[in-house]
Amino acid sequence: TVSNDRSTLLPAVREFLSSPRKLLIDGEWVDAQDGRTFATVDPATEEELVQVAQGSAADVDRAVAAARAAFESGPWARMTPRERSHLLWRIGDLIEAHAEELAQLEALDNGKRVEAARDGDVATAAELFRYFAGWATKMEGTTIPMSVPGRDFHAYTRREPIGVVAGIVPWNFPLLMAAFKIVPAITAGNTVVLKPAEQTPLTALRLGELLLEAGVPAGVVNVVPGYGDTGAALVDHPGVDKVAFTGSTEVGKKIAAAASGNLKKVSLELGGKAPNIIFADADLDAAVAGAVLGGYFNEGQCCVNGSRLYVQRAVFDQVIEGVAAAARAIRPGSGFDAASDMGPLVSQEQHEKVLGYIQGAVADGAVLSAGSGDRLGDRGYFVQPTLITSVTEDMAVQTDEIFGPVVTAIPFDTEDEVVAAANNTVYGLAAGVWSQDIGTAHRVGSRLRAGTVWLNTWHADDVTLPRGGFKQSGWGRELGSFGLDDYTELKTVIAELR
Ligand code: NAD
Repeated sequence: TVSNDRSTLLPAVREFLSSPRKLLIDGEWVDAQDGRTFATVDPATEEELVQVAQGSAADVDRAVAAARAAFESGPWARMTPRERSHLLWRIGDLIEAHAEELAQLEALDNGKRVEAARDGDVATAAELFRYFAGWATKMEGTTIPMSVPGRDFHAYTRREPIGVVAGIVPWNFPLLMAAFKIVPAITAGNTVVLKPAEQTPLTALRLGELLLEAGVPAGVVNVVPGYGDTGAALVDHPGVDKVAFTGSTEVGKKIAAAASGNLKKVSLELGGKAPNIIFADADLDAAVAGAVLGGYFNEGQCCVNGSRLYVQRAVFDQVIEGVAAAARAIRPGSGFDAASDMGPLVSQEQHEKVLGYIQGAVADGAVLSAGSGDRLGDRGYFVQPTLITSVTEDMAVQTDEIFGPVVTAIPFDTEDEVVAAANNTVYGLAAGVWSQDIGTAHRVGSRLRAGTVWLNTWHADDVTLPRGGFKQSGWGRELGSFGLDDYTELKTVIAELR
């Protein structure tokens, strides 16, 4: 049985959950115009946490109008880069000051461990605000020579905000994904309407309160929770200038098509099915630990999760034994239980989907080296980390993004063979190579078609590093110095010096 002790909940968290949460529009907390609400659920207990206002197309309309007004006039439009920089830094400090509270809310809504939320999601969100605080004053242009005989010109470029940005995010890192959209957008002077995932709206709403407390002017960031139709209303809205989306490749394609109405700018961070390649000359202890982290971190609910393990034949049995033993030793449990290593999956739908993939693989003849394909316990969306062997390249478990703690493993003989297999996917988000031969590691890394390649590590990351996908894993790059490009228009100014 799983312990679901909630005695450590902070008073601020209890208070936040004590009344229905509203939409943030134009600096005010308001009900949905049609009064509709939806329940957000604790995935460890399957109990309702609180009701949340559900934004309709009418609410999206109000939020976009507020974001437009804030973009064009008022304090935001007049704010200097330095003022935006200080504001961003203040928000980072506020997030840090409320770290435990935000971590508890995240653990309740998403299921992840409080500690993981505090040290990972919340800490990184705070750093993201601080890192981009530095960029607000450094969005420079260039001067460019022109060659027109007999005439004299001065030409230069400026980086200008795009306008109203719709941020639409998933449930796996709710606060962090909200920050991924809000931070670069407001750094560059845009305004935002954020649509959190229906499974996990709470930390984005709490962040909305902190933004107001930090002094973000009304209308600059609006938060409108709801389901896919709320997101679709934003994508369809002619008043939105850019959509920044993180989520599934399936929805990403719908967004790209729908955004063509007014040719909104679109950036997409989509799905993945990352290959993790272990050569026989790898440091095998490190590689096994990396495969376990890559496969099961965040309950395996990571777009960059190392879900396809390829192991050179000479060390296949040894690596499989190591990963399977580690997977079996992981103790799933409540995110509030210090004894648990892993929380539940986010929702009933996700739980059924993940178990269905595991059972489907067994039916297709695959072997479970760890995990059972059955639910764990009778309450909460728990699943034992799973390692699947005797897999073929055409099985659904090998081709589809599962988005759970499920790793498949296939042996290989040669470099060419494994590179071809690794690249044989519509996705191209992340990949990894384990080898102590520096030539092998870098050469294979360069042959893998993915936006992020890890060599002898996994999940190593920083807000300074750009991320994004090749192929059907997305359009554009987030974070790092490249992260502002997708949130600015480049203007060329040509002056004749008469
Ligand atoms: P999803 O695509 O179902 O939903 C994501 C968001 O889109 C949610 O807020 C949802 O309400 C909204 N949405 C759904 N239909 C919509 C529509 N027609 N128009 C506009 N918005 C719509 O994804 P999910 O299942 O919530 O999240 C998991 C997926 O996200 C995985 O595929 C994962 O790989 C991906 N993901 C990618 C990254 C990345 O950086 N590349 C990061 C995290 C998650």
